[in-house]
Amino acid sequence: MPRRRTKRGTERTPLNGEVDVLVCGASFAGLAVARELAGARRADGAPARVLVLDRYEIGERQTSACAAPTSWLEALGLEDSVRQTFRDLVINTPHGSSRYRLPWTFSTFDYPKLCGLLDDQNDAEFETAKVEGRSGNTVHTDRGEVSAPLVVDALGWRRMLAPADARFQPPDAPLSRGLEVHPGGEGNELEIWIDRSYVRAGYSWSFPAGDEVRIGVGSFDPRAHVKDPTVRLAEDLGSEAVRYQGNWIPHRLRPAAEDGIFFAGDSAGHCLPLTAEGIRTALYFGIACGRELRGVLAGRASREEALRRFAAFSGGHRHPFGSMLRLQRLVPRVPPRLLAAAIRAMGTQRVVDWSFGHYLEIAPPEFARAPAAHARPNAAQRDVAAVAG
Ligand SMILES: Cc1cc2nc3c(=O)[nH]c(=O)nc-3n(C[C@H](O)[C@H](O)[C@H](O)COP(=O)(O)OP(=O)(O)OC[C@H]3O[C@@H](n4cnc5c(N)ncnc54)[C@H](O)[C@@H]3O)c2cc1C
Repeated sequence: MPRRRTKRGTERTPLNGEVDVLVCGASFAGLAVARELAGARRADGAPARVLVLDRYEIGERQTSACAAPTSWLEALGLEDSVRQTFRDLVINTPHGSSRYRLPWTFSTFDYPKLCGLLDDQNDAEFETAKVEGRSGNTVHTDRGEVSAPLVVDALGWRRMLAPADARFQPPDAPLSRGLEVHPGGEGNELEIWIDRSYVRAGYSWSFPAGDEVRIGVGSFDPRAHVKDPTVRLAEDLGSEAVRYQGNWIPHRLRPAAEDGIFFAGDSAGHCLPLTAEGIRTALYFGIACGRELRGVLAGRASREEALRRFAAFSGGHRHPFGSMLRLQRLVPRVPPRLLAAAIRAMGTQRVVDWSFGHYLEIAPPEFARAPAAHARPNAAQRDVAAVAG
């Protein structure tokens, strides 16, 4: 178990008051929001007061296998957290393996290090507190109540700050589930298994990260248990099933603005279906959310305009998210031999370059690098904005 550093006992002083922006959740999405607010000023010229809350200290509790496109880590100046970089993806099936040479690289990274580096890029205050609920724009925590005109839910899949009837509860919600172990060891390959002997609908993975390997199983069906297959995969790979880490993973977009609250990352279903890649998208939508909030603080837009714009920006991605959800539903239905043949056929360099190029474009790293260029909505986003009114 990780050592718990969160404040205890007398250190847990009451936390009450009002700030300009309250960001709930200090993982990928929440820290990206806070980063975009660095140096933000209110319309009256005063520095904006931004408070970030999390139940744990920053980086204390790893929330994923921590593999992301290297270009995203570079765009955010997080390269020092990288543990290993991979150009190839090996896809194993019971009927053979295929090696895809990707047009860009994936890196595994150190979670506490990455969170620390990202946190260094904001000037927000941070407090450890457990968020328990909300009335209007007042958030209830185990240390008191904090109010803000601008509140962000970056608390992950639970969507804690949504109205009670709009929260998500497994197993009936559109959630996948994932579990992994982190044995010590080394490896050179970024590998996945599409093998129904481990999981009927989903995939398994082995992601080396320096001196440990992250071995896990993800099921698109929230009712399917993933512990036994995770242990079996670790055994099959000659590794010990130790240091568990698991969670629910949303696989459908949810409204990014609801009841006056901004939702970014897993709370808004920003994790990509099929691949369950949610770090890059949490960063991407967190940045977009932070940019909208900055505009409100500066008096360039009202909160309602920012909510509408952010919802439209998020909704503008419904086509790629919807296509990936359809693939997520299709893949488990394809007979295994046919699936293996299709994976082989799609391994030609042209197809890999095309498909992975489009895949990266869903949330491109340039978004982090060039705010001005990306502040303009693309055609799909303009359509949604027009619909949203
Ligand atoms: C086993 C597994 C492996 C994964 N591997 C990958 C991968 O390799 N690459 C990838 O791109 N995606 C991966 N994902 C998906 C990825 O983890 C998520 O999509 C991503 O973490 C979403 O980021 P987030 O900031 O929205 O939420 P989270 O990372 O879940 O962060 C939520 C934050 O809110 C805090 N919090 C929650 N509830 C409260 C509360 N009540 N009060 C206060 N604080 C609270 C948490 O402590 C946490 O810091 C994986 C998921 C799982 C389950």
